[in-house]
Amino acid sequence: MVSRVIPVESFDLVIFGGTGDLARRKILPGLYRRFLAGQMPEDARVIGAARSDMDDDGYRAMVREAIEEFVSEQKRKPDVVEAFLGQLHYTAIDAKGEGGWDKLAKLVRKDVVQAFYFSVGPSLFGDLATRLHKHKIANPESRIVVEKPFGRDQDSAKALNAVLAASFDEHQIYRIDHYLGKETVQNLMAVRFANMLFEPLWNAQYIDHVQITVAETVGVGGRGGYYDKSGAMRDMIQNHLMQLLCLTAMEPPSQFEPDAVRDEKLKVIRALDPVAAENIVRGQYAADEDQASYIEHSENPESKTESFIAMKVDISNWRWKGTPFYLRTGKRLKARMSEIVIQFKEVPHSIFEEDAGSKANVLAIRLQPDEGMDLRVTIKEPGPGGMRLVDVPLDMTFAEALGPEGADVPDAYERLIMDVIRGNQTLFMRGDEVEAAWAWTDPIIEGWQKRGDKPAQYEPGTTGPEDALMLLHRDGRRWRELK
Ligand code: NAD
Repeated sequence: MVSRVIPVESFDLVIFGGTGDLARRKILPGLYRRFLAGQMPEDARVIGAARSDMDDDGYRAMVREAIEEFVSEQKRKPDVVEAFLGQLHYTAIDAKGEGGWDKLAKLVRKDVVQAFYFSVGPSLFGDLATRLHKHKIANPESRIVVEKPFGRDQDSAKALNAVLAASFDEHQIYRIDHYLGKETVQNLMAVRFANMLFEPLWNAQYIDHVQITVAETVGVGGRGGYYDKSGAMRDMIQNHLMQLLCLTAMEPPSQFEPDAVRDEKLKVIRALDPVAAENIVRGQYAADEDQASYIEHSENPESKTESFIAMKVDISNWRWKGTPFYLRTGKRLKARMSEIVIQFKEVPHSIFEEDAGSKANVLAIRLQPDEGMDLRVTIKEPGPGGMRLVDVPLDMTFAEALGPEGADVPDAYERLIMDVIRGNQTLFMRGDEVEAAWAWTDPIIEGWQKRGDKPAQYEPGTTGPEDALMLLHRDGRRWRELK
């Protein structure tokens, strides 16, 4: 299989926060890999802009180190790295003041695609948008990429949308959720809408329930102070898991076109039922021999912030009434694993003996660690001696099915950055989607605060609090194993 790489138009990409953790770990290594793949034109430029005083050479040295650390050895080709570094520039800037803006205005070319990546803390998003506009750096086709978190409730998201809208049109604003850049997430749309096989069964009549899991083994570590103001609901459910739910549950859009897809996702969010307290389990990880507890990490002995959530979500529309979506996410769990699981119903009547071992079909869409899909189908166990049934995987791990190039899928960030340059907003959240997602989560969070609910403690290295298992057991269901 030969992968096709279509070079994008020439561009100037300014990374505000170009010396920060996200830029060094994801954005710059991602751009290098696109350069290596031949997708970044030779006259495209990446301009780091941050607080530190540094010249181009200092910045290139920093990025060289980031490439050493975050790009696999196999992809680090010395001459390619040098050529890539030659396309990098740096300028110091103060998002909160006037320093550096005139220089940036002179640096950014007017005759190429302009993109401005806001890889800085959320308190600076508004300042950057306003100053880009005030200093006439951006034009009506420039794009801004806004990192998460996008607000912390509906009011703050609305306020941020309004500040951005004062300087940029909606078609210029790219609210990034890197989960949407994952190959398998887009494959979910391909599987649903490019095959006759699945879509007719994709509803409450044939699907028993859906599970969406994003499990991490790491704790909050040094980010305890930040995380304590957020928690799993704001940090994971309101954005990443909600987006995965929307893509799984949405109606087929009429076209694979940004607003058609985002309209359908928005309809799903608006059809979500409010979630009753008994349908949510919250947890906080305890300490083990190696690591501190959540409370110790957060440095707040009274913290009621959750590092784990499991919840049962109902969607009130014709397609999904009666088929729950169970969401679960947490830190310091047994395994690092993200997947969407479609659990089909049993056949209405089995012609085989009760103990033959018939199982319902399962479609598991893995986002990490190994992106791929696995469809379990029931077949006859080979051999004589009656009809014994087994369920076997129709495994579609990209690495196996598509050869080495199948495994070499671009990282989510690099794909999304190229989408920004191409001007394709399909995999980015629209302002009204983000506000609607907060409108659904806000009352849940307010309910905890009003009641003073405390999350249950759970042992690290497990699947979370016991009650999370009960959430499914009481419905006669089980979570898929975390592995
Ligand atoms: P960071 O603290 O490592 O870097 C912040 C950057 O902002 C630095 O380059 C700093 O120089 C610059 N900066 C700070 N104040 C400035 C000012 N007044 N003017 C100009 N530049 C200024 O942060 P990070 O971890 O890289 O995160 C950046 C953004 O990305 C945040 O919104 C964060 O929530 C989001 N994010 C980060 C990650 C991650 O893995 N690090 C993941 C998802 C989202």
